[in-house]
Amino acid sequence: MTILGIESSCDETAAAVWADGSILSNIIASQTIHEQFGGVVPELASRAHHKTIWKTVDQALREADISLDQVDSIAVARGPGLIGSLLVGLSFAKGLSISQERPIIGVNHIDAHMYANFIEHEEVYPFLALIVSGGHTRLVQVDELFSHKVLGKTRDDAAGEAFDKIGKLLNLDYPAGPIVDKLSKEGDPAFHDFPRSMINKGLDFSFSGLKTSVLYYTQEKGEEFVQQNLNDICASVSAAITDVLHVKLKRAVKKTGVKNIMVAGGVSANSMLREKVEEMAQKMDLHLMIPSIQYCTDNAAMIAITGALKAREGRYDDLQIKPFARLA
Ligand code: ATP
Ligand code: MG
Ligand code: FE
Repeated sequence: MTILGIESSCDETAAAVWADGSILSNIIASQTIHEQFGGVVPELASRAHHKTIWKTVDQALREADISLDQVDSIAVARGPGLIGSLLVGLSFAKGLSISQERPIIGVNHIDAHMYANFIEHEEVYPFLALIVSGGHTRLVQVDELFSHKVLGKTRDDAAGEAFDKIGKLLNLDYPAGPIVDKLSKEGDPAFHDFPRSMINKGLDFSFSGLKTSVLYYTQEKGEEFVQQNLNDICASVSAAITDVLHVKLKRAVKKTGVKNIMVAGGVSANSMLREKVEEMAQKMDLHLMIPSIQYCTDNAAMIAITGALKAREGRYDDLQIKPFARLA
């Protein structure tokens, strides 16, 4: 079976081909137009998707050495995300579905971040997933394919959003997460003790207090101090965020007794988080799944594999499917 995956939920136009258990191509066109605005501008995002989508899909097919006729079904992200952006990918997929007479499969972008792990890891159940992306932070127990139980979620900002907003306070470019990560490697995580909100209780998360704390800290210390100690401040921020994330995951493991764990979403690319979770998995004798970097942030390979899993279950959609902005 051959699946074409299409992703356009935010500011990445992406296409990938999955065939019989492997990813044959994974093309990502990241939009650069938003950098000057310090965040994604929805209207500009949909226009940019519109401009690049055909080229991106064409390139994915070429690189996979597959013709459109060989595609058995088209998997496409239908949400959550920006409606205008999702509509471009979804409409394009519907067009292909009609012209090629192949079924369409609508894929939940957040599920896809999680199932991206099955590109490189054996499928195992049950597992606990820590999903940490730009817009979401949740702990999910998955007992079998597509049977998800939310154990905890953020009450305000997502982990990636925290990295990005705090990075903005530190005058870093958007998205700041990867830059904070890079600078942290040269810094001291114990330089300043930023708050770890809700770390001692429950499985929910909160990151807005940390953001406020960094704001006050930078105002109090002044710009010069911040620039001189940027690496140390970034490391301290990364330490605060990743401490909370891995402690909550550990608590979920203890609470549920589930031994298979996974980390997913853009923030799973974070080096400090990866180290902490790897150490924890070793100490507690857990089976850890974490995607290689290329499958952490938005990509279409994750859409294609999730489409393949749905196709295996016969879960196809019809042309009436609509995009959705938020998770139910
Ligand atoms: P969602 O998936 O919730 O709809 P999204 O698609 O925008 O949101 P992703 O693509 O999964 O989010 O992840 C992007 C986020 O990951 C950004 O907030 C970015 O800063 C963050 N991120 C990426 N790499 C790193 C890193 N190495 N360290 C920390 N954060 C990172
Ligand atoms: Mg993005
Ligand atoms: Fe995402």
